[in-house]
Amino acid sequence: MEVRVQNIRKEFGRYPALEDVSLDIRSGELVALLGPSGSGKTTLLRLIAGLESPTEGTIFFGDEDASKKSVQQRNIGFVFQHYALFRHMTVLDNVSFGLNVRPANRRPQAAEIRRRALDLLELVQLSGLEKRYPAQLSGGQRQRVALARAMAVEPNVLLLDEPFGALDAQVRKELRKWLREIHDRTGHTTVFVTHDQEEALELADRVVVMSKGAIEQVGTPDDIYDHPVSPFVYGFIGQSNCLDVTLSRGEIWFEDRPIGLRAASEPDGPATLYFRPHDIELVDGCGCLAGLVTAGRRVAGTRHLEVSLGRTQPPVEIELPPERASSTDHSRVAFRPTRWKLYRGAGDVARGSVQAQSSG
Ligand code: ATP
Repeated sequence: MEVRVQNIRKEFGRYPALEDVSLDIRSGELVALLGPSGSGKTTLLRLIAGLESPTEGTIFFGDEDASKKSVQQRNIGFVFQHYALFRHMTVLDNVSFGLNVRPANRRPQAAEIRRRALDLLELVQLSGLEKRYPAQLSGGQRQRVALARAMAVEPNVLLLDEPFGALDAQVRKELRKWLREIHDRTGHTTVFVTHDQEEALELADRVVVMSKGAIEQVGTPDDIYDHPVSPFVYGFIGQSNCLDVTLSRGEIWFEDRPIGLRAASEPDGPATLYFRPHDIELVDGCGCLAGLVTAGRRVAGTRHLEVSLGRTQPPVEIELPPERASSTDHSRVAFRPTRWKLYRGAGDVARGSVQAQSSG
């Protein structure tokens, strides 16, 4: 089901946790709410669920104003970070719970409930474990039971709050892939909270980047990664370097020299240049960024170098390609960003790549 969040404000006491948040979630979409701790992700999820009421604004489920509906009437499937399974119930009873507690006129027959629960356990690849108790399962298995339980009521919307947050990295990765497959098979409209950018970019159809109670950007993972609209988004979704630069007649200068990058349509003045450690090429000679390597570390097949570029700014990090991975500390390196973004204040003004060699 489609969910439309319109101009939501939520205050706790006098503190605004969300300010003027609007978001359209399409039917069948898998949307990730991504942001640092305290950015308002869980609050937004709880408002959609009906566990909190907005101070201002409206949430629509399809064409209906959901604020008039209770949590039960919204028919939500909810999975929390810390698996809230019933410890005294078997896996099968946990999955059947939402159907068993329905009023008699909406409750399927016992045999039908059992069949649905067993089908769901097969979907989440837990067939054969239906008689176990939660304590007899691994963390990953428990979260799969929690998801099966949430899906059993055929929810209008599935809401997942850091569902894999308590699991170790390997299990997390497996479950991520698995969740995407399950989503593609069942087609539930799903909203997923995470503070892990890799998880959001890998899993979601669209990512909603939040900061300080507001939405910074909404887009596909490619949009967000390739065209971050603000320094905050750029920095949050991947490793990044930033340098204070100056624009002069379309050329980007660092300290007292041009560095071979152009942003032709931009007015003169100060700006901040952002680039990622791997988006660089080593060059010979002048018209580039150059500095002294102050530290190095090996990461898989590549080498990451910390390079001190100027008197006033902290070192940047660059990633050398495997064939240059033998470069040593204390040597000089000269390089140029191959993909970069220029920001002024909070917004982006230009970007470039080696192919374009100019502003985007
Ligand atoms: P995390 O990743 O740490 O869970 P989050 O992005 O989900 O963070 P929220 O839990 O939505 O953030 O919190 C947003 C802001 O609202 C925070 O500053 C938090 O302290 C505040 N807040 C959330 N719930 C309440 C509450 N029940 N009472 C008072 N303040 C709250």
